[in-house]
Amino acid sequence: PTDLNALADEYLKIAYHGLRAKNQSFNCELVTKFDPTLEPVNVAPQEIGRVLLNLYNNAFYAIGERSRKMNGSDYQPMVTVSTSQVKDNVVIRVKDNGTGISETVKAKIFQPFFTTKPTGEGTGLGLSLSYDIITKGHGGTLTVYSAEGQGTEFIITLLIGPATY
Ligand code: ADP
Ligand code: MG
Repeated sequence: PTDLNALADEYLKIAYHGLRAKNQSFNCELVTKFDPTLEPVNVAPQEIGRVLLNLYNNAFYAIGERSRKMNGSDYQPMVTVSTSQVKDNVVIRVKDNGTGISETVKAKIFQPFFTTKPTGEGTGLGLSLSYDIITKGHGGTLTVYSAEGQGTEFIITLLIGPATY
């Protein structure tokens, strides 16, 4: 069984420091709200780690894009990661205050090879892979809420119980 608080925290730091190593001017406040009573969950940790890394990198990218657009004006980039337990589910939320996603784009983000990023910056496979890992691989759910110009939130739910992966 995996401690998803520790996993979510570890990968957040990996993603952020990886990005900062390449781009020192990138800056973002990281807020974590981890439920200390969260039960360990039977998941494949490398796979869930991969999903989290995808979500974090997408969040940082969207923040970078918004920062460029805002250029100079007041903007405090922020990624908030939280965990909670709802009945038999662990819920992980990854929220950013980046560009947000339009309704037309949102309809396609889980499709393989769909990307709005320039060639070389995105394969369009991150979310389709993440969706499969969470739903087919673990019997969980992956949903998105977004408001264009304000930000995006991805929500993972995973059932607490015997291994399903
Ligand atoms: P990639 O990152 O290679 O483009 P993904 O499957 O990870 O592929 O994401 C697909 C698309 O979904 C992105 O190109 C982007 O348009 C959109 N997207 C995903 N996450 C976010 C986010 N947090 N904020 C804004 N747009 C996002
Ligand atoms: Mg991606």
